[in-house]
Amino acid sequence: MFGSEIEKILITEEEIKEKCKELGAELTKAYASDADKLMVVGLLKGSVPFMAELMKYIELPLQMDFMDVSSYEGTESSGDIRIIKDLDCSVKGLDILLVEDIVDTGRTLSVVKQMLYNKGAQRVKIVSLLDKPDRRVVDIEADYVGFTIPNEFVVGYGLDYNQKYRNLPYIGILKPEIYE
Ligand code: 5GP
Repeated sequence: MFGSEIEKILITEEEIKEKCKELGAELTKAYASDADKLMVVGLLKGSVPFMAELMKYIELPLQMDFMDVSSYEGTESSGDIRIIKDLDCSVKGLDILLVEDIVDTGRTLSVVKQMLYNKGAQRVKIVSLLDKPDRRVVDIEADYVGFTIPNEFVVGYGLDYNQKYRNLPYIGILKPEIYE
């Protein structure tokens, strides 16, 4: 059965939905005064389910775009970040809200944030569904965080193991035999 590879559910679909509503309301307030400049940028592929849910509750006429960068092989960070897909739109003068699935070491976000400033973004803020602060090696924090989690490898709601399990509607921990 789909999902039987999961040992434990850490965050349920309902909890994620509630959190997206809360964050959406907070972001609506935060960006209301200059909404025309708001561009939401999702990092593929992990941010997709979170971004889709969150955007429903940001009640502003925002623009959206996607970037794909990679730093991971299996479960290990290689520390080197490649651009696989660049933005379609210019970010010059725009207020960017970068959407990420998880902040782990912080390497990806610190590089992408700097890239966006180099492209002329006026301001870059980060919203992440998950935060794993114990693993941080770069001094960066998300401005908005859904859930802070312990140092465990999680899958679901956009997060993969070898490109699978992104479509699980919750955040969970895989059974150890899946890695073996
Ligand atoms: P960072 O550059 O912060 O180390 O890595 C961020 C990326 O690493 C995330 O976008 C995600 O793709 C991957 N990652 C980090 N922790 C986990 C995890 O617990 N589970 C999964 N599936 N991916 C993770």
